[in-house]
Amino acid sequence: MDVQIYQYDAVVVGAGLAGLAAARELTAAGKKTAVITKLHPLRSHSGAAQGGINAALGADDSIELHEFDTVKGSDYLADQDCVELMCSSAPETIRWAERMGAVFSRDEKGDIAIRPFGGQSKPRACYAKDRTGLTLLQTVYEQAHREGIEVFDEWYVADIIYKDGKVSGVAAYDIRTSKPAIFNAKVTMFATGGYGRAFKINSNAHANTGDALSIVSRKGLPLEDMEFVQFHPSGLGGSGILISEAARGEGGRLFNSKGERFMEKYAPNAMELASRDVVSRAITQEILDGNGVGANKDAVNIDLTHLDPNIILTKLPELRELAITFLGQDMLKEPIHIAATAHYSMGGIPVNINCQVRKNTTELVEGFYAAGECSCVSVHGANRLGANSVLEALFFGRHAGESIVKVIDDIELREATQEDASSMLEELNRVKTSNGTERVPVLREELQQSMTDNAGVFRTGKSLELQVSIIKKLLKRYTNIRIDDKSDVFNTELQEAIELQHMLEYSLFIVEGALAREESRGGHFRDDFPTRDDDKFLKHTYSYMDENYNIKHEYVDVVLGKFEVKERTY
Ligand SMILES: Cc1cc2nc3c(=O)[nH]c(=O)nc-3n(C[C@H](O)[C@H](O)[C@H](O)COP(=O)(O)OP(=O)(O)OC[C@H]3O[C@@H](n4cnc5c(N)ncnc54)[C@H](O)[C@@H]3O)c2cc1C
Repeated sequence: MDVQIYQYDAVVVGAGLAGLAAARELTAAGKKTAVITKLHPLRSHSGAAQGGINAALGADDSIELHEFDTVKGSDYLADQDCVELMCSSAPETIRWAERMGAVFSRDEKGDIAIRPFGGQSKPRACYAKDRTGLTLLQTVYEQAHREGIEVFDEWYVADIIYKDGKVSGVAAYDIRTSKPAIFNAKVTMFATGGYGRAFKINSNAHANTGDALSIVSRKGLPLEDMEFVQFHPSGLGGSGILISEAARGEGGRLFNSKGERFMEKYAPNAMELASRDVVSRAITQEILDGNGVGANKDAVNIDLTHLDPNIILTKLPELRELAITFLGQDMLKEPIHIAATAHYSMGGIPVNINCQVRKNTTELVEGFYAAGECSCVSVHGANRLGANSVLEALFFGRHAGESIVKVIDDIELREATQEDASSMLEELNRVKTSNGTERVPVLREELQQSMTDNAGVFRTGKSLELQVSIIKKLLKRYTNIRIDDKSDVFNTELQEAIELQHMLEYSLFIVEGALAREESRGGHFRDDFPTRDDDKFLKHTYSYMDENYNIKHEYVDVVLGKFEVKERTY
């Protein structure tokens, strides 16, 4: 089959906040840039962000406090140089977004309003009601469009072109027609977002299947800190759909079936506004102790009925709608059922402070960048603070774009050949012609349920070993799948099969990383190693996979700075 070859200065994969912000910078600097995305840009998961974006804007707040809260929240695993860069750039990032046209909610004085979020010493989450991500995504999309970005939407990127330590573009196909193409470029950037779909109970969009992670790791490149998954305290009972931390920020209180405000036991000072890992473990512990509410006793109550109804109607309207639609519970009148939900992935493709991808612990990959949730720069370490991730995507997306502009003219374009698409074409052909007996949705369900059961809020060596063997069996069964749709037009059965293999592969990184990390830190909690072990594990994990799915780890020192490593209490 003839493969079309496109040529660009830069190709950006992903049109969420990180990808669009980078593409805007590149295009504004006159670099011919293609944005490839499997969804329409405005359907990217960034648009689902509800609660806010952090910046130290309050009169009694400071950049240093924001940095400290972020480092403490990370359980001291964040790289402090990157945290300093992000937090000190946060106020300017908000002003930039506002100048671009984002309309933030205001306080009585007309200033940008800020609200409290978990794990933060001061209110600093700026917001647009509870639709912050959508407001920002629309703004950045409009502005990137205005600069003239070229968008290939409903295109699926399935491979990178990686030779001799250099990436020179991607192989992709048009989801509408299955037509393959090569996007040849001096610089390639991944901004493919999060990958919470590996878990049964999760808050993520269907598209969050971590494609980039397995595409990268299949080349022998490392993934960093994959064991650190954030379980958000408030997913709607049964489904995991997100009820933003804004619900606790505005004053929501947690109660168990006995009517106890149980956070008194777990975080007597911060209460409901302790950091997310702490609150999620408290909720899960109450449920395990038999103090859950609901038909299956698998949730706790969040109560907002004591608040002025106007707060709910003006600041949390979408959250109220979600709970009415999916649970039939109106937060104006009654408490609603919530439980921990897989929400955010702290690990990802390792990058340096300028978002260039690392080849190993000492070298970089030429022409390859990543930013946003798919990357690990690492500003969140072992646990991310609420409202720091939209900030990360927006700030580091722009920063990546600016960094690329500085070097792109010195990078030589390596000409692409038809051969560069061959491994993608082989994969597409293999999956499409598969005529076995296993079904993709069945395997996916088994993966998701077992990840929630064995690699969730509480983990043990035993549960993780069991999960490694479950994933390896699923990978074997995957070779015997069956695809009925043999057509070329919107073949979603084919796409879901490819995505499932990605999910299986990066799940193995999550579980193997968790098994090797014999301590508890941030979002990673081991019942059999319940304390933090700084002597052995104040380190980032770099994991590499071979073609037989064997994973080996290396450990790299954390970049420390002005904040001394301490015990973390709330
Ligand atoms: C429900 C919810 C609420 C949240 N609320 C907040 C909040 O209030 N504050 C906060 O700080 N954070 C929040 N977060 C986290 C935050 O929204 C995300 O981490 C951030 O928006 C990620 O942005 P991104 O640009 O990295 O990726 P995304 O916005 O997820 O974009 C990923 C892009 O990659 C594309 N893509 C992926 N794979 C492929 C492929 N194979 N081929 C082509 N294209 C591909 C997709 O089409 C998409 O355009 C929330 C997350 C969720 C799920």
